[in-house]
Amino acid sequence: MEYRPLGKTGLKVSLMGFGGIPIQRVSREEAKEIITAAIERGINFFDSARGYTDSENKIGQAVKGKRDKVILATKTMARTYEQMTADIDKSLREFGVDYIDLYQCHNVKSQEDLDKILAPGGAMEALDDAKKAGKIGHLGITGHRAPVVVAGVKTGKFATVQFPFNFIERAAEEELFPLAREMKMGIIVMKPLAGGAFTKPQLALRFLLQQNVSAIIPGVDSLEQVELNVGLATEKIPLSPEELEYLIKEAKEIGERFCRRCEYCKPCPQNLDMPTYFILHGYYERYGLPDWARERYQSLGVKANACEDCGLCETRCPYNLPIREMLKKVHRDLG
Ligand code: SF4
Ligand code: SF4
Repeated sequence: MEYRPLGKTGLKVSLMGFGGIPIQRVSREEAKEIITAAIERGINFFDSARGYTDSENKIGQAVKGKRDKVILATKTMARTYEQMTADIDKSLREFGVDYIDLYQCHNVKSQEDLDKILAPGGAMEALDDAKKAGKIGHLGITGHRAPVVVAGVKTGKFATVQFPFNFIERAAEEELFPLAREMKMGIIVMKPLAGGAFTKPQLALRFLLQQNVSAIIPGVDSLEQVELNVGLATEKIPLSPEELEYLIKEAKEIGERFCRRCEYCKPCPQNLDMPTYFILHGYYERYGLPDWARERYQSLGVKANACEDCGLCETRCPYNLPIREMLKKVHRDLG
């Protein structure tokens, strides 16, 4: 396993990290087994969030007695001093530790959101105080909207940046990652598998393993995934021209209409659940499960044809998806 510097933090993280969302789905015992195997196989970077229900707790119970072997990262949507202080203390209790290596401002969505964090009485003051008190080591920022995260990076307040990056979602390459590199920040890649959009996920991970980033953090909830991820990171085999061609073709086919499930488009005045329709349509189009997808779609209370064409969702979608057009296709195929 390769270990890379996490920017200027002095920490060295395993290039293959561990995303803590999916372990919410497994039992405490299974989680312990999976995380223990990950540590034994060389993964040392674990990322969680206050919002991932019992994820911090499950990671915490598994790393007991091995604290010196792991780097713990977590994050919260708290934006005020009081909320941030309370969340840092809660994370410490959930992990069962007295120190968290990296504490991140989770999903910073807008300039207003960033301003709130940085304002007097905002979350940043609480992060600074927690750092001085020795409760946390370094500060990070995470988000899905490049211009906002770029603005956050430019403040110089954060040591790391966490952003979606995969063969379909390449926006970070334009300004964000080059800027972060220039500022010697740690770069953490979230959504490396684009939420399951790839038909050959191993190729998508192998592509990322060749990039100039600190760590990639695919979500893990099985021993097989640990083995697979560690195997890929150990071998680090570059893509062959044919494999690259396959990814390019696939990215082209799905990229422009690929819903990232970020839910920024909601709420819809007609109560449509756009991301859910698009997920089902993905099963119809990409996973060869047309009957199952149709059945699920038809059981939904509000369907895509309830759209009144107001266009509000499209003004909110950070990926500029032609949502209304996509909804029509969903209903044509599944309705
Ligand atoms: S365009 Fe349709 S889906 Fe989008 S917000 Fe308006 S009614 Fe809802
Ligand atoms: S349609 Fe756009 S805003 Fe809505 S979930 Fe998908 S990517 Fe996000």
